[in-house]
Amino acid sequence: MSELYRLSVAQAARALRAGEVSPGELLASYVERNLEMEQLTHAFITYDPDRAAKDAQEVTRRWPELGWSVLAGVPAAIKDNMCTRGLLTTCGSRILDGFLPPYDATVVDRLTRAGMVLLGKTNMDEFAMGSSCESSAYAVTRNPWNPGRVPGGSSGGSAAAVAAGQAAYALGSDTGGSVRQPAALCGVVGLKPTYGRVSRYGLVAFASSLDQVGTFTRSVEDCALVLQVIAGHDPKDSTSVPRPVPDYRAALGRDLAGLTLGIPREYFEVALDPGVRRQVEEAIHDLEDLGAKVGECSLPHSEYALSTYYLIAPAEASSNLARYDGVRHGLRSSGDDLESMYQNTRHQGFGSEVKRRIMLGTYALSSGYYDAYYLRAQKVRTLVKRDFELALERFDALVCPTSPTVAFGIGERVDDPLTMYASDVLTVPANLAGLPGLSVPCGLSEGLPVGLQIIGRPFDEETLLTIGHALEKHRPLDPEKRGPLYRPGGDPYVL
Ligand code: GLN
Repeated sequence: MSELYRLSVAQAARALRAGEVSPGELLASYVERNLEMEQLTHAFITYDPDRAAKDAQEVTRRWPELGWSVLAGVPAAIKDNMCTRGLLTTCGSRILDGFLPPYDATVVDRLTRAGMVLLGKTNMDEFAMGSSCESSAYAVTRNPWNPGRVPGGSSGGSAAAVAAGQAAYALGSDTGGSVRQPAALCGVVGLKPTYGRVSRYGLVAFASSLDQVGTFTRSVEDCALVLQVIAGHDPKDSTSVPRPVPDYRAALGRDLAGLTLGIPREYFEVALDPGVRRQVEEAIHDLEDLGAKVGECSLPHSEYALSTYYLIAPAEASSNLARYDGVRHGLRSSGDDLESMYQNTRHQGFGSEVKRRIMLGTYALSSGYYDAYYLRAQKVRTLVKRDFELALERFDALVCPTSPTVAFGIGERVDDPLTMYASDVLTVPANLAGLPGLSVPCGLSEGLPVGLQIIGRPFDEETLLTIGHALEKHRPLDPEKRGPLYRPGGDPYVL
C-alpha cells in the first residue's frame, strides 16, 4: 500500500513540485487509507472520492498557473458547517438534511483557488454545540488513538481525519474551543486565529461574536501554510479585518530567546488530569531550556469565563438558529398550518443539545432577564478581555493546557451537560477576548495525546507559530507510541 498519506502538507508539496508524485497518486493513497480507516473513525458525513478525483484532474490541468501554491493537489477535509457549492452541508443536523449551498464559503473558495483536492465534509457536534462529536445527527466519530474514546468536539471529524491520515489537513470552526480541544485530544496541531483574521462568510453561524475558522494539521509548519491561504480581509464579512497578512512561514525557526511566556495561575487551579499537568509542565520547562523567559501571571476573572460563555453563545445561537423554519433550507415537516409546520420542523429537525441552547439563549435574552443575564455577561466578557490585555502587556504569549483531560470515553459525558461544558474551561476565555490560540501536542498521558495551548496577542499568530514550532522540534511525540497513522499498514484496532 502506498503510504504517501503520511507526508505532511509541506513534504507532499515538495514531492508534487519535484514531479515525484502526481496529484492523482497522492489522492489514491488517501482514498486507500480512507477505505481502511473511515469505518473505524466515522470522520466524514460526506465522503466523495469521485468529486476529489475531479479536483485532482483540475489541479493537474491548472498546474502551470498553480506554481505559487503549496496546497495545490493536497487532499483536504472541511467541517460540515462551511458552505460548499452543490455539496451537502448539514452542520451535523437533521434540519439541514439535503441542503446544497448555492455558494462556497470564502475559506473554501480561497482553498479551491489554491488547488485544494476536497475529500469531503467532516462530522461535528450538531451546529458546533458540543465537545465530543456525539451530538451529530449522523454518526459518532471515534478517536483514532483509541476508538473507545471521543475525538473531542465540535470539530471532531476534522481532527480525527487529520490524525488518522484520512486527510492532509482540515478546517474546523472554534467558538469556544472546537478546534483546539479536538486537536489536543487527537494529537494534532489546531489553530484558532484572532477573531477577524479569517473570513466567516459561508461559515454557518453559531455565535457570531465568537466563531472563527481554524486549521487542523500534523505539523506547525503545515498550520502556517494553510493559515497563509485562508487569512485576510474579505469584503463579504464585515468583521474580517483589513490588515496585511504576514509571511507565516517566516515565523518558523525563530529563536525563543527574548520571548516572555506567562503561566496563568488560574488555569492550573482547575481539576487537571495529573498526566496532563505533568506533560504541560515539562513542555513549559522545555520552552525555558530553549531560551524563553517564563513567569507566573493572573487572569482573575477566569472563573467566570465559562458561565459568561454559556450565556453569550446560546443567546447568539438562539437568534442565529431562528432562520431554520422549514421554508428556506433543508428539512420541512408537514403541519396543518404554517405555525405547526414551523413547530414540527424544529421539533424534528433539532437535537436535544441544540434545543437546550435555544431555550437557554431565548431565556437569557427575554425582556426582564436581559439585564440580569445577557447584559451582565457582556460586562464580564469585557473584564475577561481586560485580564488578557494586562497579562499580554507583560508577556508575549501565555501557555497552559488546552484541555483539562485527555480524550474521555464515548458516552461518558453525554448525559451530563455541565461536565461536558467544563471540557471548554481553558479554551473559552480566548474566544471571549477574540485572541488567537494554538494547541500543539506536547506528550502522552495514559497513551493518549496532551495538548499545550499557546494564547497570543491579537493578530500575533506568528509568535504562536514560533513557539509551537520550537516545541514540536524539541519535544516530538514518541514515534513508537504514536497513533495508527504511524503504524505501517494493517488495522490496529478491533472495534
Ligand atoms: N464546546 C463548546 C460548546 O459546546 C464550544 C463549541 C465550539 O467551539 N464550536 O459551545
